[in-house]
Amino acid sequence: MSCCQKPTPKNNENDMKHLLLATSWYQQSAEMRACYYQAYNMARLALKENLQNYKGTKPAAVVLDIDETVLDNSPFEAKLMADRQNYSDSAWMAWSARCEAQALPGAAEFIAYARELGVEVFFISNRTLDERDRTLKNLADAGMAVDSAHLLLYDLSKKTSCKDERRDAVSANYEIILFVGDNLGDYTSLFDRRDSSLALQLADSLHNDFGRKFIVLPNPMYGEWENAIYEHKYSLPMSEKNRMMLDLLRK
Ligand SMILES: [Mg+2]
Repeated sequence: MSCCQKPTPKNNENDMKHLLLATSWYQQSAEMRACYYQAYNMARLALKENLQNYKGTKPAAVVLDIDETVLDNSPFEAKLMADRQNYSDSAWMAWSARCEAQALPGAAEFIAYARELGVEVFFISNRTLDERDRTLKNLADAGMAVDSAHLLLYDLSKKTSCKDERRDAVSANYEIILFVGDNLGDYTSLFDRRDSSLALQLADSLHNDFGRKFIVLPNPMYGEWENAIYEHKYSLPMSEKNRMMLDLLRK
């Protein structure tokens, strides 16, 4: 979750039931854990191969997203539902301040493996600069300690959560040989602000990159994919958004 990816809903309809199945799957299914292990096993293979093939002079790096990539915030989604609350930035900030997000399956082991190979590990997240200290603590508590120089957060004053500028900052001194994330925007900004095509053909066109340059993790709870279905009108009433979801489904 990024507190900045979703505008605060302005409706009064406290209906988060649409999240129940997705959050249950994410938090309570063995299949979800298997998907994460599978992805991080693939990440190891890709990292090793990409490193062997890399002939440049800059040191090699891997870039990971944080939320729903290495840290599990599904209890936040669950609490919203239990409290019959809509998402809000303040609720997110209260959750992230607790530093209780657990490591996702395979994440800490993959990070340790990358460092064993001599690959520099960077996190690029749309958590905000205000969340720096708590994020460093949560990552450390979850077995993925990193220093501040390797944590690139969202500067609200830039007014864009696009990660290009931060990817470029890493690329100035390192060769990024692998990306890991739950949102395709963690790989390339081509997937930011998707139009009515939902970037489905774009994903098809990049099919060779998945599992090789970008390792994608499953997140059925939220993401740019969801915002695109709502035509980026996240503040619409949930009943309206449910209608838009149903209308769009192939039948
Ligand atoms: Mg994420």
